[in-house]
Amino acid sequence: MDDRPQNSDMTRDRATQLASRRREVQTQLDEVEQELTALRRTREGASDDDEHDPDGVPLSEQWSRLEGLRLARTEALAGIDEAMARLERGEDGLCRHCGKPIAPARLAVRPEVTTCIDCAP
Ligand SMILES: [Zn+2]
Repeated sequence: MDDRPQNSDMTRDRATQLASRRREVQTQLDEVEQELTALRRTREGASDDDEHDPDGVPLSEQWSRLEGLRLARTEALAGIDEAMARLERGEDGLCRHCGKPIAPARLAVRPEVTTCIDCAP
């Protein structure tokens, strides 16, 4: 017998869930970064006229959309890493602000959250 807590199965499931979520978000982040790289090349090759093409979505608009996605995914990754670290310390599923348990339904939808609904930014 080892001295693992009784919820070790739950902990293992949660670790698996976080790891697969991490891979998923990392893949999405890679895709956004590839799009940003492609867009950067397009922008470097574009003249001022292209920038003001009335028919197309302005490059600057595409840029800010992708930057927004990149930021959101980077934050999600950081959240997952934090959740994994908290899992190792046995603090997983507890709000990092108030220490109350985070609703399981909330964790199921967004495994990376580290705050309860009341403390969500
Ligand atoms: Zn809270």
